Amino acid sequence: MNFPINNTKLSVLFDSQAITAQRWRSSSPKERAERLKKINGWIRDNLKQIRAALKSDFGKPEAETDLSEIYPVITEIKHTLKNLEKWMRPVRVSTPLTMLGTSGKIHPEPKGRSLIIAPWNYPFNLAITPLVSALAAGCTAIIKPSELTPNSSALLENMIKELFDPSEVAVIQGETETSQELLKLPFDHIFFTGSPSVGKIVMKAAAEHLTSVTLELGGKSPVIIDRNADLKDAAEKILWGKFVNCGQTCIAPDYALAHESILQELLMELKVGLQKMYDTEYKGIEHSHDYARIVNEKHFSRLLDYLADALNHGATLEFGGHTNPSTQFIEPTILTQVDDSMKVMQEEIFGPLLPIKTYQTLEEAVSYINSKPKPLALYFFGRDIDNYETVIQETSSGNVVINDCVLHYSHPNLPFGGINNSGIGKAHGYFGFLEFSNQKGVLKQRVGMTSLSLTRPPYDLKTKKLIASLIKWF
Ligand code: NAD
Repeated sequence: MNFPINNTKLSVLFDSQAITAQRWRSSSPKERAERLKKINGWIRDNLKQIRAALKSDFGKPEAETDLSEIYPVITEIKHTLKNLEKWMRPVRVSTPLTMLGTSGKIHPEPKGRSLIIAPWNYPFNLAITPLVSALAAGCTAIIKPSELTPNSSALLENMIKELFDPSEVAVIQGETETSQELLKLPFDHIFFTGSPSVGKIVMKAAAEHLTSVTLELGGKSPVIIDRNADLKDAAEKILWGKFVNCGQTCIAPDYALAHESILQELLMELKVGLQKMYDTEYKGIEHSHDYARIVNEKHFSRLLDYLADALNHGATLEFGGHTNPSTQFIEPTILTQVDDSMKVMQEEIFGPLLPIKTYQTLEEAVSYINSKPKPLALYFFGRDIDNYETVIQETSSGNVVINDCVLHYSHPNLPFGGINNSGIGKAHGYFGFLEFSNQKGVLKQRVGMTSLSLTRPPYDLKTKKLIASLIKWF
């Protein structure tokens, strides 16, 4: 709904969701499943429209839309439908001796009214996947999609209007000011996906109402290529992870750390791999139908600035570098001889530039990673178990993937998210359900005399001895 930014209208909408949120507290697994099935049905009936919206927003190839926008949402729904009843069930916990006669259970209750703020880079997936978790948990939602992908945002608005009453789920389009108006409302949970800098603004606003947050942020995710990695395999997987969506992926390998002994062979494999993926007929990657474009002029100029800055500071251009401002095309670009004085090694790149830095010892690579904010994802290519165990043990990141990249996003049973600068909280499957639920502990005591009544005042000698024995024995 193209609500003008108007506090009163937002408040009316917000209030209307309070009534639904109360009603939905007791919704059955079947009722919640029906809401998810409606979304699934709509997606299957509107595949062409989804593909067209993404294509017009930033030239996203249809196959990539299927793979990275539609497939993850459909599998998220399928996984949730399969497990929802189990997730919703109260879980009995064991009773300690001191509480004999009681029983304890954890009841997952819906938090209530949720706000979902989505980014532009996977505009469909990153608005609807959190919605699946919200609906599974029994929450209502207001979705604020990104203003940078207007066709996808309009599609989301139409979709939600067709499927839900605004008092259940609503889409509010708008710029930053709209987000800020929404953030003034006392939501019960905010699920934000976007940059760390805006994540801080969201968290500050949430603090005003002590609203819980899930922050799915970004940053620089490194990929280590160890000396005994299968370089052809590594190159092909890194290229896909880096250049899908034209590098505009939060978990794309941002920069590579390659063992110095394998750099030349790795570069060769990367160049061969790029040719194979995007330029089999040697016409130039710009003619490929399988490569997306940069979302807008601002990001296009930002990336050109990073590239120019790296070259000016002495980086070597190993591949790519061609650009076309009229279509916001940036060729997949590989740089070596990079260092921390360059913007490509300071800022999240979020585009098709891959800087490669070399290391001599694994300790050096690990301490380089540990000197930076904790990444969203960390990738390791190599066969040496001790080496990848060292990396898992000695670094901190949201996720780690060995011998692949980006793949963990699609694993339904793994938590997805970051740590500190790369995020707070986890998404997907059961972990997404938990974010939108309050784990309410419920303790039931028997009526009348209980073992703990013996510890009540007056604290005579007998009572004191009993309390002392609690400390000693339990
Ligand atoms: P962004 O932070 O600029 O915007 C995200 C959303 O916040 C948009 O809806 C935008 O309208 C809103 N917003 C922007 N400025 C705001 C402000 N001052 N106050 C309130 N709301 C505001 O991010 P983006 O450019 O859309 O996306 C790119 C970033 O998102 C990258 O850092 C990327 O790594 C990250 N990202 C993370 C994930 C993840 O799952 N962890 C997924 C995709 C993208």
